[in-house]
Amino acid sequence: MRKVLFLGFVFIFSLGLSVTHTNNLAPASPVRMVTDRVCTMQIAKDKAKTYKKDGYKYYFCSKKCKKIFKKNPEKYALSF
Ligand SMILES: [Zn+2]
Repeated sequence: MRKVLFLGFVFIFSLGLSVTHTNNLAPASPVRMVTDRVCTMQIAKDKAKTYKKDGYKYYFCSKKCKKIFKKNPEKYALSF
């Protein structure tokens, strides 16, 4: 019973923490990560190169990957 109460407390506490983090936009909050379709690397969304196609936004780690994608978009766009 004690353990349940403790876990409940931890849960509420972490919820409260995440809410404060989002409101203050603290630097410690996790960076949104996106996947490079070409090299499958994880990159920070704000640092990624973007390319829009068919109403969908693609993210790339570099101009090189973007170029590769533009050359053969069907190959990468479908490989979810
Ligand atoms: Zn890449």
